[in-house]
Amino acid sequence: MRKILYPGTFDPIHNGHIDIASRAAELFDELEFVVALNPDKETLFSIKKRIKLIKESVIGKENIKVNFFHGLVVDYASTKGHCAIIRGLRHVSDFEFEFQMAMMNFHLNKTITSIFMMPDEKYIHLNSSVVKDVSKNGGDVSAFVPPCVQKALFTKFSK
Ligand code: ADP
Repeated sequence: MRKILYPGTFDPIHNGHIDIASRAAELFDELEFVVALNPDKETLFSIKKRIKLIKESVIGKENIKVNFFHGLVVDYASTKGHCAIIRGLRHVSDFEFEFQMAMMNFHLNKTITSIFMMPDEKYIHLNSSVVKDVSKNGGDVSAFVPPCVQKALFTKFSK
């Protein structure tokens, strides 16, 4: 069984993430989203809520699983039997950070391969911060997030 890990903050998940995950899941037997548990990073949604939103967004995609992790992503990947990590690449600006991280992960564990994928061009400028900003100011984000996320953002910002 060939399993691939998709780590991130996913605060919240959006259609760019789903595009990458869906296509990677077709190339592997199983894809596991893992939400990073990082107490130093301030997030809009709790880890529990972020996991719930991912689960709701991928309902019906049988080979996509959702979990959380803390510590080193390569350790989690090898403990759970993954052979690769998938990350999305949007711009050249993503490349520098992702390249550094991939090199460090390779140094830490040579059995885990980092794979990069570009999203559909309609999601190339999309990120969670933009989604939160637009939503906070009453803008329509329905083209960029699943309905459950749109609802969660609305609830959060109408308080
Ligand atoms: P990070 O993991 O850097 O905190 P995210 O949780 O937003 O950031 O993203 C998780 C992964 O998804 C990263 O590899 C990121 O590059 C990728 N990603 C984020 N937004 C998009 C997008 N619009 N299209 C493709 N990949 C994306």
